[in-house]
Amino acid sequence: MSILELKNICYTYGVGTPFEKKAVNDVSFSVNKGELIGIIGHTGSGKSTLVQMLNGLMKPTSGQVLLDGVDIWDKPKEIRKIRFKVGMVFQYPEYQLFEETVYKDIAFGPTNKGLSAEEIDKEVRRAAKFTGIKDELLYKSPFDLSGGEKRRAAIAGVIAMDPDVLVLDEPTAGLDPMGRDVLLSQIVRYHKERQNTVLLVSHSMEDIARVADRIVVMSKSKLVMFDETQKVFARGDELEKIGLRIPQITKIMSQLRKRGVDVPEGILTVDSAV
Ligand code: ADP
Repeated sequence: MSILELKNICYTYGVGTPFEKKAVNDVSFSVNKGELIGIIGHTGSGKSTLVQMLNGLMKPTSGQVLLDGVDIWDKPKEIRKIRFKVGMVFQYPEYQLFEETVYKDIAFGPTNKGLSAEEIDKEVRRAAKFTGIKDELLYKSPFDLSGGEKRRAAIAGVIAMDPDVLVLDEPTAGLDPMGRDVLLSQIVRYHKERQNTVLLVSHSMEDIARVADRIVVMSKSKLVMFDETQKVFARGDELEKIGLRIPQITKIMSQLRKRGVDVPEGILTVDSAV
C-alpha cells in the first residue's frame, strides 16, 4: 500500500514576475511503505523543489501530496504535524545545528513533539546510535565536531523525530569517500531496522545503485522515468540522452549484484566501464 502519493504536482517560482520558473511540472508517482526510493537528475532538474513539497514546507502550485491517503494540505493549520511525519534532511544540514550541545540539538525535534524527558532521551540515544554518534560526543558543542560528525548529528536530529518517511537531499555531498560510505551504510541500516520509507536525492549513480529499490529520474522539471533500480540503469542510452552518464557501470552492476538484485549480463547498455 502506498504511504505517499504525488498527483500531478507542479511548482512555479516567482509566479507573475519576470523570473517566473516552473521548477516541477506535472509529477506523479507513489511510494510504498518501507521502500527506499532514489531520486536522480541533473542540477536544476527540480529534485530539491520536489522533495520540499513532501513535508509541507512548500505548497504545490497545483496538484496534491497524499500521505496515507490524505491530502497534506486538507487542514493547512495542521501542516506542522506533517513535518514530524515526513522528516526532511536538507543539503548541508550541519548549518542548522545551533544548540550548545549535540544532545540538545538532537533533542530539539522530540522536545517540540511534546514527548516526556524519558522518551526524548530514548529517541536521542537511538538516533545517535543509528548515525554512529558516540555517547561522549553528545555532550560536546556541535561546533567542535568534525565535518562528518556534524552531518551525522544533524541527520540524527531528524531521525529522532521518528518520522514515517525520511527524505534526504544529497546527504553525502561534500563528504570524503570514507565519510560517504559510512553515512550511506548507516542510512541503509536505519532503513532496514526501522522498516520505514526513505527518499534519497543524489546525483551519485553509485550511491543510488547501492541503496535504492526504485528510482525517480527527473529531467527539466519533469519525471522521465520511475522504475526498479536495475531497470532504470538498463536504460543507459536514454539516461545519457538527458545528460546522465553512468560513469562506473561495472561498479554499479557489482553493487546491485551484491544486494542480490538479479542483473543479467548485458542488461546495462552503456559500457563506459573504467
Ligand atoms: P535540483 O535540486 O534538481 O538541483 P531545484 O529544485 O533546486 O533543482 O531547482 C529547479 C529549478 O528551479 C532550477 O531552474 C532553479 O534555478 C529554480 N529555482 C530553485 N530555487 C529557486 C528559487 N528560490 N527561486 C527561483 N528559482 C528557483
